[in-house]
Formats: sequence, structure tokens, C-alpha cells
Amino acid sequence: MSAPSSSLVFVNAAQVVTCAGPPRARRGAEMRDAGERTDVGVAVDGNRIGAVAPVGPLREQFPKAQEIDCRGGVLTPGLVDSHTHALFGRPRFEEQELRASGLDYMEIARRGGGIHASVRDLRAQSEDALVAAARTRLMRLAAFGTTTVEVKSGYGLTLEDELKSLRAIARVARELPLRIVATFLGAHEIPLEHRVSAARRAEYLDLVVKEMIPAVARGELARFADVFCETGVYTVEESRTILEAARRAGLLLKLHADELTSSGGAELAASIGATSADHLAAISEAGIAALSRASTVATLLPGTMLFLGKTTRAPARALIDAGVPVALATDFNPGTSPTPNLPLVLSLGVSQLRLSAAESVVAATVNGAAALGIAERTGQLAPGYSADLTLFDVRDVRELPYWYGDNRCTATWVRGKPCHSS
Ligand SMILES: [Zn+2]
Repeated sequence: MSAPSSSLVFVNAAQVVTCAGPPRARRGAEMRDAGERTDVGVAVDGNRIGAVAPVGPLREQFPKAQEIDCRGGVLTPGLVDSHTHALFGRPRFEEQELRASGLDYMEIARRGGGIHASVRDLRAQSEDALVAAARTRLMRLAAFGTTTVEVKSGYGLTLEDELKSLRAIARVARELPLRIVATFLGAHEIPLEHRVSAARRAEYLDLVVKEMIPAVARGELARFADVFCETGVYTVEESRTILEAARRAGLLLKLHADELTSSGGAELAASIGATSADHLAAISEAGIAALSRASTVATLLPGTMLFLGKTTRAPARALIDAGVPVALATDFNPGTSPTPNLPLVLSLGVSQLRLSAAESVVAATVNGAAALGIAERTGQLAPGYSADLTLFDVRDVRELPYWYGDNRCTATWVRGKPCHSS
């Protein structure tokens, strides 16, 4: 039996950006249409969108609805941040200065910093402490308009610490009004204690494949498995072995691919049927061609390149021209992208990756949902979809990437319930 339904009607929006269309990622020219309407309101019936129509008929159809006055703002589908590492302990602010003084990301990692520092730290933290930290940080993401967020494990790198991380993510998901999707990233790094020899390295791979993945699947602790496929981390062949094991266990697949060097990650993601291939700042022509023949979403993370001070950029235009669906996400993490601000990533999408404003909004709504395999549930304002909405204090959707770094989000709703309000 369903709970008694409560209905809402959103009125006085300068624009309603619906992103309405088929329940799948947008490609090519489709990405240019964010479905902006200036003549409509939105009715929410219980936890779903009831109708998108002129306000007069909405009021007649939902006479008992509570009215929400949008005050001339822009109403969009709740933003979807499809790539974060939001479960961590201590922030790593000291590395920013090290990079400024000339040490690169891989050199900091070789010295025991980078991901290894977060691993040492997370292993020492209790599950309760991790839950408390994640709760606060995820509500910072929510404050910028995000209503769905993917959260990866990957700072534990032992069976026990990876399970602790995923249990913490599950607890936060139950407590917070946000929609949270969990990803198992036990292959985020080779832990230092397994880097001492080839045999010890093989042992860790075995642990991921034979113990961690089965335990994660048994506990239903993650929807996705992910691997950091990169020169110096996991090879393409190791990544394939791990992802194939994850698929056999019933997990959907993601891949950190071609972030710093072109290593064939995109080709692997396409050939193995990954739901998304993420980063891609160093993707090759062959990688673009491979993705164009697959259904994999290319999730671009320009905030990371900006924060690392790199001038290379993912070839977003070439990807879109090749028909690859593109999503944008924050990559929120303690080392290389500590921003909770997804609208800022939209700004970078336009100014650095040369997307249009509409393309950037589609990339962070319907295509973000597709990158999480939930495009039939969220990412658009259309009847039957989850009532996930974000209200911005702007008059035109093009202002979302324009006021870069500002927070124009005034309120969000998830499944028809208030999530954030400023
Ligand atoms: Zn990542």
C-alpha cells in the first residue's frame, strides 16, 4: 500500500528545463535540446512528476496541491553527479602546494601521498566517523543543486576496509534525502604493501576478484564496480580481468579511463559494455571511435584537470560529434577535485570543453542518470519520473554556467520531498 499522496504544483518559473525525451542518454544533436519551456509549471504527485503543463490546467488537475512559488527562477531536473569519491577521512590540502612547487600527481603518489595517504587515513577511521564526514560533505553537494550522487569506495583497499566503506555509504544513503548510488572501487590503486613485488601485486588482484567482488555482490553493497585503468596503476588486461569478474557477480561496470595517458581504457570500456568511461582527457582517436560504436557514456571531469593545473582537456566536441553521449561530474575527492559545486563543472564544460549551455545541462541531468543506469527513473521532468527537481535563482538556463563559482541553487526536492533549501 502506498503512503497517502501529497501533491505540489510549481508555479512562476521563468523557465522549466525539462530535458524530456526517451529514457536513455542523449547523443549528438540531441544534446543541444534541454527542453526549455517558458509557459508551464510542474505538478508533483507523491514521489513522481504528475504533469508538466500550463499552470491553469495543473491547478484544475491537482486542486489540493500545495503551490511552490518559483519567484521567476529556473526549474531543472535535479542535477546528477555521476562520479564522486565522497567517502573519505581527511582532506589533502597540503598536496596542492606540492603540485604548485613542481611535483606531479604520480610523483606525489610514489612518495606515499595521493590515494595512499587517503588509504592510510581511512583504514584508521571508524565506520561511524566516515558516516559523519560523508553526511556533511554530501549535503554540501546537495546545496549546489545535486539530487543524485554516485559515491565510490576505494580508500580502504583491504576486504574489511572496502566493506566498511560500502556499509558507510549505504548508511548515509538511508539517512540523507539524496539519491545515492554506490560503486565498489577496490581497484583504485595497488596498496603499498602489495607493490613490493609482482607476486604481491598478483595477490591483490586475486583478493579483489575472488574475495572482495563476491562479498560486495553478496551484501548487495554496490550497483557498480570500477577500476582505475592508468599507466602505473591497473593495466588494461588487469582491468579487464576485474571487470569481467564484477560482471559475472551481477555488478554494472564503470572505468577510470585515459585520464593522464592514453592506454586503451576507452577501448576496453566500450568492448566490455561498461555503463560509463570516465575522465578521458587523454583518449585516442581509436578510443573515440570505439565509444561511438558502444552505448557507454563518456563522463568528463574538467574540474580535476583545472585543479591539477593541467592544460589537457577531454575532447568533448569530438566525442559529441562522433555520437558519444557525454556526461559531466565533479569527481569530488580529497586529492584532485575537492569541489562540491556541479554548476561550476557546467561552467568548465562550456568554457573549457566548448559545450553549449544546453549540452552542459543535459550532461549533468539525463546523461548523468544514464551514466548511473537510471535514465528511466531520474534526469528529466516528465510524467512518471521521480520528482527530483532543482530551483535556481536565475532567469535563463544559460546563466547556470555563466555565474561561475556562484551558488544560485535555492532549493531541491528528491522523490517529491524537500532535500535542500538555502
Ligand atoms: Zn574518480
